[in-house]
Amino acid sequence: MNGIVYHDDYNKYDLGMDHPLVGDKPRKTIEFLEKHSIMDDVKLFTPEKATDKDLLRVHDSKFVKHIKDLSQTGGMLAFDTPAPAGIYEYASLATGGTILAGEKLFQKFQCMVNPLAGFHHAGKSFSSGFCFFNDIAIAIEHLREKHKLERFLIVDLDVHHANGTQEIYYGDPTVLNISFHQDGRTLYPGTGGIEKIGKDEGKGYTVNLPLPPGTGSSSYLDAFNSIIPLLTKQFNPEIIIYQCGVDTHHSDPLADLYLIHQTYYHLAKKMVELSNNTCKKLLVLFGGGYNSSASIKSYYNIMCGLLGRKDIVIEKNIQDMKSEDVEQLVVKLKKLLAPFWEL
Ligand SMILES: [Zn+2]
Repeated sequence: MNGIVYHDDYNKYDLGMDHPLVGDKPRKTIEFLEKHSIMDDVKLFTPEKATDKDLLRVHDSKFVKHIKDLSQTGGMLAFDTPAPAGIYEYASLATGGTILAGEKLFQKFQCMVNPLAGFHHAGKSFSSGFCFFNDIAIAIEHLREKHKLERFLIVDLDVHHANGTQEIYYGDPTVLNISFHQDGRTLYPGTGGIEKIGKDEGKGYTVNLPLPPGTGSSSYLDAFNSIIPLLTKQFNPEIIIYQCGVDTHHSDPLADLYLIHQTYYHLAKKMVELSNNTCKKLLVLFGGGYNSSASIKSYYNIMCGLLGRKDIVIEKNIQDMKSEDVEQLVVKLKKLLAPFWEL
């Protein structure tokens, strides 16, 4: 059984007219999914706001108060992240959605989707990159406490490096945090170097593949297939969190990986297979995507991959310009991880 969490107030997570994060993307996405009968195949749930107790499992109290204060008046959280009045409520609601979606995986649902989620730039006491609360970590800590889980796998395929999530779990061997992203030397937030593999007992549990601008679909899928299934099998997660940001699409105004719509379908299908072979619990967070109409088609293809439907959106392939560079990166990453994993 599959489900999706959605609240109309998701569309109030709106950072302003000229901001790349478009407020009504969740509504438009759901409308597109309805139009193409995807919503007939999923059960819809309405989330509630995460509580302060939920937020404080990850963030420090000063940071939470800072967001609350900003939310009263409106202001700026960071150079790229305006904090509109009421944002505390809306960010808490998105976070509550990820918690609810995670919880449903323990109530007979095998795949749950939150379309306003995957805020991976939020660390314990800092944030930027359009993020306020790290819903990924907050859901993990909720599930850890409630269901006594010990092995969480994050596969973060958003084009930006998951710097907040990395900060939270850098020394933690219970969370295998894999991030594929555009090389930080060419894109915000500048972190996520290949040599960053964790510290102390968490060494080997942070995996970064920083891809060069111009990486296309075939190299991307090859890199995915040669790393992620092997790590998943050996780690044997109790839940898989799939941040499937589609700002990797060639039309995205913020980044330069050149994926096409079909790639998202193949990745989602593969993620379902990995989940079916392990824990049968797949939490899907839609993440970034800043060309709204292209993003919605990519999300639709992801839903097709998750639900086993074949009527996907297809577009022309794009010449892959970086296949040799990506191959070399994969070899390098495997070498770095060799003390910890069989790759
Ligand atoms: Zn992103």
